[in-house]
Amino acid sequence: MKFISTRGLAPDLGFCDSVLAGLANDGGLYLPQQWPQISSKEIASFANLSFSEIAFAIISRFVDNEIDEKTLQKMINASYANFDHPSVTPLKEIESGHFVLELFHGPTLAFKDVAMQFLARLIDDILVKRSRRATIIGATSGDTGSAAIEAFKGRDNVDIFILHPLGRTSEIQRKQMTSVIENNIFNIAIEGNFDDCQNIVKALFADEKFRQTTNLSGVNSINWGRILAQITYYFKAASDLGAPHKQIDFTVPTGNFGDVFAGFAAKKMGLPIRKLIIATNENDILARTLKTGRYETNIVQATSSPSMDIQISSNFERLLFEALNRDGAKVRALMNSLKQSGSFSLPKDALDYIKQDFLALSANQNAVDATMASTLKKSNYLLDPHSAVAVNVAQTLKDKHISMISLATAHPAKFPKAVEKATGQSPQLPDFLSDLLQREEKMQILQNDVSEIKQYINQHTRVNK
Ligand SMILES: *Cc1c(COP(=O)(O)O)cnc(C)c1O
Repeated sequence: MKFISTRGLAPDLGFCDSVLAGLANDGGLYLPQQWPQISSKEIASFANLSFSEIAFAIISRFVDNEIDEKTLQKMINASYANFDHPSVTPLKEIESGHFVLELFHGPTLAFKDVAMQFLARLIDDILVKRSRRATIIGATSGDTGSAAIEAFKGRDNVDIFILHPLGRTSEIQRKQMTSVIENNIFNIAIEGNFDDCQNIVKALFADEKFRQTTNLSGVNSINWGRILAQITYYFKAASDLGAPHKQIDFTVPTGNFGDVFAGFAAKKMGLPIRKLIIATNENDILARTLKTGRYETNIVQATSSPSMDIQISSNFERLLFEALNRDGAKVRALMNSLKQSGSFSLPKDALDYIKQDFLALSANQNAVDATMASTLKKSNYLLDPHSAVAVNVAQTLKDKHISMISLATAHPAKFPKAVEKATGQSPQLPDFLSDLLQREEKMQILQNDVSEIKQYINQHTRVNK
């Protein structure tokens, strides 16, 4: 299978190359040339399969024998062996017909582990086979960095440098990153904010020479390998509730649009999803876009769900590409307009296309707090603020004849202050992390200065050494 760029100018790549590339060299994002189909009969058979078996059935369709089946199945098994729940992503019914899908049983307590555990093994395997090393860099406000560090720690062919804004992540998020002391892990705290970190990463990727000498790679949410691994839990959850014989709605707390796009991919592959509901916090660019047809960035507001405090939803470009009949030139025109003026208008037929499958709504801080409190009171279930955004929106839009699954993307103990403020209860970390706050930390504080960071990475990466 070939993978094509949403902007139509980059070369088509095979599976492994598209994963290593991350971003296409025309600035676009990779998508499969066509969506593989999973038949109703096969979906019915998922009811008797484990998470890892379903993951293999999905992922192998895209890998298309570039990795032999035995190696791939082993890689998938290892990725989910350290989740602390036997179903990996269990469903809990919080009210009649409304379920939360717990995606936070991985090592860093957020859904990003589901994809990152697989992606790290995949990248390492590809590099080992090619006898290459890579340098991975990323900027994080918390969850992505910890998931990436945990997944890549100790891998021989990868060194990973994660930039976070000094003093601006929660203590738990910072500790999850800085207490990982393996030699290939480099935590850099930048004297600046998250945008500064992201701008440094962009500048490093734009430096062709640096990129080549360090064999630079990225694992942010535009990497196709991450979306791919997230398709699995839509199939698993829907088959747990009776798919293909029943339709399901999903509500997804959304920031960069990766998670909900994986749901769209599942639908394209044949899963009977009726609606995909985009739930946003006050940073409601997607809800506004579906309402008005105009995609227009705003100032980022800080909320209690920081992993969704985003104004440019990068993966939305993938949906645009589908909505524009996979016309790369049209995607390029809209993306240029976004770059020039901070906005674009969707053609009417593209907006209609999106509205067939998607609904969107935002929930403000008061609503999210009230949902955390009422869910604890009525269902004895403690939600984290991101998951509460989804549950709030799902309760507003639920159809009483159709089961609703809200994605729970983080464990409440990852955001203890917000949870305690809304509910009066202080969530407990799982046993395997109970000593987290006492662990020793390793990190380097550097100035908000590209050349300083470049020098640090050059000194420490093992590429070409
Ligand atoms: C990253 C993240 C999200 C948003 O996911 P996207 O794929 O960026 O839409 C939601 N909740 C949590 C806890 C996250 O870490």
